[in-house]
Amino acid sequence: MNENSLEVVAALQAITIASALCEKIRKDLAGRESFLKSDRSPVTIADYGSQAIICKLIKEKFPHDIIVAEEDSAELKKPSRSRILDQVTHYVNGFVQGASSKEVCSWMDFSSHFIADRFWALDPIDGTKGFLRGDQYAIALALIEKGVLTLGFMACPNLYVDKDQPNGKKGCLFLAIRGRGSFQMDIDGGDRRALSVSTVENPSEASFTESVESDHTDHLLHQHLAQKLNITRPSLRMDSQAKYGIVARGEATFYLRVPSSSEPDYRENIWDHAAGSIIAEEAGGRITDTFGQPLDFTSGIKMKKNHGVVVTNGILHDIVLEALKM
Ligand code: AMP
Ligand code: MG
Repeated sequence: MNENSLEVVAALQAITIASALCEKIRKDLAGRESFLKSDRSPVTIADYGSQAIICKLIKEKFPHDIIVAEEDSAELKKPSRSRILDQVTHYVNGFVQGASSKEVCSWMDFSSHFIADRFWALDPIDGTKGFLRGDQYAIALALIEKGVLTLGFMACPNLYVDKDQPNGKKGCLFLAIRGRGSFQMDIDGGDRRALSVSTVENPSEASFTESVESDHTDHLLHQHLAQKLNITRPSLRMDSQAKYGIVARGEATFYLRVPSSSEPDYRENIWDHAAGSIIAEEAGGRITDTFGQPLDFTSGIKMKKNHGVVVTNGILHDIVLEALKM
């Protein structure tokens, strides 16, 4: 595939529109409202709206493709949630005119919970907690064919464009095409540049990124690992798969995700890592779990065979894995 492939054009268009929808909701402060799903994780009208739009646009172009996405409309269809559904429909209509609530739900429910030979993995808002805090979040979409990630797309509407200017212009689009590299663009698609990971070889000069949420990762263990490697720079805590983009563009040398001690047996969801990992990989990075195993996108929604995630510039990968054996 190349940048003119129908898949690339359709996916970029879909995540760009979803990103505009999420930012509109966030700026209207409607994004402050969230409720808990049955697994106690938060969801907002933006998660639902983003999924509806992306599923609609992908299915329109690829009616036979499977989309494995995080949300579905079951909760929204409850009478107690009718006001939320009205809001989702209202915002989706700002981008796809004339959509009824029924249609919006049906688009969301294009999502399947079964993977196939060729399927898309979608997280309509990765880092919902970051979205609610006004921090980082990502709209993440990837194409997986015969177990291999072939395309990755990520919109990070609130991420600074220039790694040297964290207070500068915001809004990044990331794109990776298997065998053709990783790219960052402005959120409007302009200023495309190829990405490459950091060239740091000496662990003491490295910097790393990790989750903000202590429920999602073991900050203390990460801190011990940093001490062991003589890393003195403070970690960059960030929500969502934006962390993969941060490694891809050489801003952090590695991204560490050791499961939190409160949930040591947690298994990662494919949509939380698919887009990010090809973006880091095509920029020259290496990705495994904490035991050095490749991430497996073939065993269902959960990455059952993997434990945590380690993303590095490649050069430091074995050193980080070795240090994790402490
Ligand atoms: P992050 O923003 O990198 O901390 O990751 C956000 C993602 O963490 C969400 O999309 C959740 O699917 C996922 N998540 C939820 N609970 C856990 C957990 N106990 N350990 C690791 N990840 C989790
Ligand atoms: Mg997520």
